[in-house]
Amino acid sequence: MTNLNEYFGGRIINAKELTPELKRTLLDQGAIQTAATYQIRGERYCRRCLMRLPQKSEKYDYCRHCINLGKISSSDTLLITNADIIFPTQEKYLNWDGELTDNQRKGVHELLNAFDRHQDHLIWAVTGAGKTEMIFPLIEQALINQQRVAICSPRVDVCIELFPRLQKVFPKTAIGLFHGKSLEKYHLTQIAVMTVHQLIRFEKAFDVLIIDEVDSYPLAGNQMLHQAIKKSKKSIGMMVYLSATPPKELLQKVRKGQITLSKLYQRFHGHPLPEPHCHLLFKEIDFLGINPRLRLKLNQVVSSHQRLMIFFSSIPVMEKFAQKLKRYYPTLSFVSVSSLDKERLEKVQRFREHRVQVILTTTILERGVTFKRVMVLVLNADAKEFSKTSLIQIAGRAGRDKKYFDDEVHFYYRYYNRQIRQACKEIEYLNQQVKK
Ligand SMILES: [Zn+2]
Repeated sequence: MTNLNEYFGGRIINAKELTPELKRTLLDQGAIQTAATYQIRGERYCRRCLMRLPQKSEKYDYCRHCINLGKISSSDTLLITNADIIFPTQEKYLNWDGELTDNQRKGVHELLNAFDRHQDHLIWAVTGAGKTEMIFPLIEQALINQQRVAICSPRVDVCIELFPRLQKVFPKTAIGLFHGKSLEKYHLTQIAVMTVHQLIRFEKAFDVLIIDEVDSYPLAGNQMLHQAIKKSKKSIGMMVYLSATPPKELLQKVRKGQITLSKLYQRFHGHPLPEPHCHLLFKEIDFLGINPRLRLKLNQVVSSHQRLMIFFSSIPVMEKFAQKLKRYYPTLSFVSVSSLDKERLEKVQRFREHRVQVILTTTILERGVTFKRVMVLVLNADAKEFSKTSLIQIAGRAGRDKKYFDDEVHFYYRYYNRQIRQACKEIEYLNQQVKK
C-alpha cells in the first residue's frame, strides 16, 4: 500500500512517475493537474522551477535548470498535491526551559507581531546573538494555529545542525530533514528542515517559511532559488529571513517598508564580538616553510594547547599548508575539511569533542557551526574567496561561549584590501551600537 504522506503537502510531482491509481487518489485528495510549462509573451517557462525554457526550435525539450530533481519535458503533466493539511493538536508544543535575553525578547515580540499581520520579517542578528532560540516562539505559535513551517538554509551543514535542536524542543511534532544527501525520503511533516534547493519541489506549501543564512552561497544571486522560496510559501503565509550579514536587496526592502526588521547587535552573553587582529605579511604564507610571523603564532598555540580553527581560501592552499604543519609540528593533532570531503561531518565532530586540537577548513565552516573556546586564524584574508561577509562570519566563530567570550581572531594577508577593511569596520560598528 502506498504511503500517501510521501506525496502530500504541496509537492510538485511529474505525473508519469505515478501509477494511474495513485494519480487518481491524489486528484481525489485535492491535487491539481497542470501542464509542465506555461507561456508568457511567447516565452515558455517551467512550472516547477519557474525558469525559462529553450525555444521550441532548439534540440532539447526539457528544463535544464531543475534537471537534478528529475527531467521535466514540455509535454509532461504535473500534479501539485494538496497542501491544506489538518495537523493533530497537542497540549504543549514547545518544550524549552532556556531564557531569552531582553534583546532576544524584543526581537521575538516584533517577530510575533509580524506573524499576526502576515508580514515578512528580517532578523539581523550578529553572529552568536542566539537567533535560533528566537524562532522557537514563532514556530510554536504557527503550530498552535495548526500551520506548517519550513526552516531552510542554502547550506546543508546548517540544516543538519538545526534539525536535532528543533527535535529536542518540539518533541511531539513531526519534523523532517530533507536535503540532497539525506537518506530520509520526503514525507509530510508539520515542520520541515531542508536546503533551499528542496523548495523547488513545492508550491504554496508552507504558512511560515524561515530562511536562515539568507546571504550565503548558493542562494546569493541565484534567481531560481529565490523564485523557489517565493513560490513555496502559501499566499497569505509569512517569510522570515535570518542573517548576521543581510544582503543589500533585503535591506532595500526594509527601507521601502516591504518587510519589517529586528536588529540584535549584542551576542546572547552580552559581550562584544571579537575584533580581528590584522597582520600584514611581507611574504607568502609558505615562505621559509611556514611564514615566520605565522610560526610565532602557531608556536604559541601549540605550547598553550589552545584550540584553533584556520581558514583557507582554497583546498590546494589548505592541503599544501597541512603538509607543512605536519612537518613542523609532528605532535600537533589536526584535521582538515572542505566541501569535497566525504568525512567532513565526522571530522568536525572530532574537533568538537576535543579529539584534535586544530581544524583546517575552507569557507565551508564559515557559518552555522558553534565551538567553545577557539582561536580563529584566516590565512590570505585578502584572497578573492573571502568576501566582507565571509570574514565577518568567520570572525563570529570565536567567542561564542559565555566563559570564553574574548577568543582571539587574526587575519593574515599581503594586501590590506577593501573586504578586510570593511569587515573590521562593520564589526567595530556593531560593537559600538551596543555601547550606545
Ligand atoms: Zn525547471
